[in-house]
Amino acid sequence: MKRSRISALVLATVLGLWLAALPLQAYTMLQVSQSGRVTSGARVACEHPGGFAHWNPARNSNIQWWMNHFNQGLGKIDAVRGAAAAWTNVPNADHRPVFAGYSPFGWATDGRNTIIFANGNGCTGSCLALTALVTQNDQEIIESDITFNNAVNWQTNGTDIDTQAVLTHEFGHSLGIHHSSVPRATMEPFYSGPGGRTLAVDDHSALQCSQNRYGYLRVRVHGPTSIGPNETGTWICAASGGGPPYTHSWLKTSVHGITRLGFGMRAETSDSVSFNIVCDVIDRDGRIGTGHRFVTVSGHPDHPF
Ligand SMILES: [Zn+2]
Repeated sequence: MKRSRISALVLATVLGLWLAALPLQAYTMLQVSQSGRVTSGARVACEHPGGFAHWNPARNSNIQWWMNHFNQGLGKIDAVRGAAAAWTNVPNADHRPVFAGYSPFGWATDGRNTIIFANGNGCTGSCLALTALVTQNDQEIIESDITFNNAVNWQTNGTDIDTQAVLTHEFGHSLGIHHSSVPRATMEPFYSGPGGRTLAVDDHSALQCSQNRYGYLRVRVHGPTSIGPNETGTWICAASGGGPPYTHSWLKTSVHGITRLGFGMRAETSDSVSFNIVCDVIDRDGRIGTGHRFVTVSGHPDHPF
């Protein structure tokens, strides 16, 4: 996960070897072998049975990042915002790095995701920047820090070495993404200019892979919680997370048994007794989610007034 400057010849050789080794997949994911803090991991395909490091989207849709401006001042904030926006704007993925503010904290496991410019932290010489991940059970990422090599002449005006392009790459690591063999992808292993500010389709695919594999399918049923006897109500099923498109199906349960209500985002029904209306959702990967709403039916059907 260390990013370096290196000659074009060596770069071409390394990329060539990786292309040969991984012919079917360009992006790769970052697998860690044990919980705790790491700055490196194995390169694995999205489908690898051992999985890879990932944020829990149910808890971490917004991933807050702090900036330690010691050494570099306040002038890098637009670079931070721009790099965060690149990943926030990936379609069908709701991991959003967001700038939370300035912090005196740094390269330590302290519960804060922090960007720091330092002379050390294992990133000196040809190293541009380095990302650390802190994981717990099942490779769930609970913290990440990024250290920039303070000896580099960091630019924000679109010339080399471009702060935003390198940070966009490091944010990719912080999201559990390893290197890509696609030339000019932001997650290619070596710095190739300010173009890295803009994600390639391959970079989008990497984050979508994480979202799809570890995404949490959320289902909610909206609509009335009470209706009159034999009055028709309408309920809406709202799904998010997982991998759209979704297939919705409805049923209701009551003392009269189970009644299937058909497919679609909307359901209409009426009843003479209280019931539970249930929406089951299946996403494109076969992930199943369910939501329900208990509906009280009150009043006397024979004497509604
Ligand atoms: Zn890297």
